[in-house]
Amino acid sequence: MTEDERWMEHALREAELAYKRKEVPIGAIIVHKDRIIGRGYNQVETLKDPTAHAEMIAITAAAAHLANHRFERCTLYVTLEPCAMCAGAIVLARIPRLVFGAADPKAGACGTLFNIVQDKRLNHRVDLASGVLEAQCSALMKDFFKKVRTSGMGKPQGGEPQGGKPEWN
Ligand SMILES: [Zn+2]
Repeated sequence: MTEDERWMEHALREAELAYKRKEVPIGAIIVHKDRIIGRGYNQVETLKDPTAHAEMIAITAAAAHLANHRFERCTLYVTLEPCAMCAGAIVLARIPRLVFGAADPKAGACGTLFNIVQDKRLNHRVDLASGVLEAQCSALMKDFFKKVRTSGMGKPQGGEPQGGKPEWN
């Protein structure tokens, strides 16, 4: 198991917390000097906040930890390719490196629909790795949406879940 895979397992654990709360299962962590300094899972439904994506929550937590320090030498791990909002936040935070699991064909902004994190017109570009533990990350999504369809869980409220209307449907 590579180091990236090892950290992605932590992001998957966050995603599982979202799953347990009937949220679209997406999880993120931020690693700095071999330590997790921020974690988050999708809480769009729980908080009734369309911006409560896993990455945003992890970035806010890590920023509090870093205080005045920048996100130097930080890596953000997330189970699903970030959307335009989160990709924008990653650029604004100047996070040097991003690792994601599954690509998001409906909302991915790190190579699929857009590539905001590597756009030369912006003043920060992110080193990007994708497809890390992809099978596990997408299996969790598929399983979640299957359950939404077949159980009484009902449709997530408040519009599109994080990650958009799923391909995994
Ligand atoms: Zn997002």
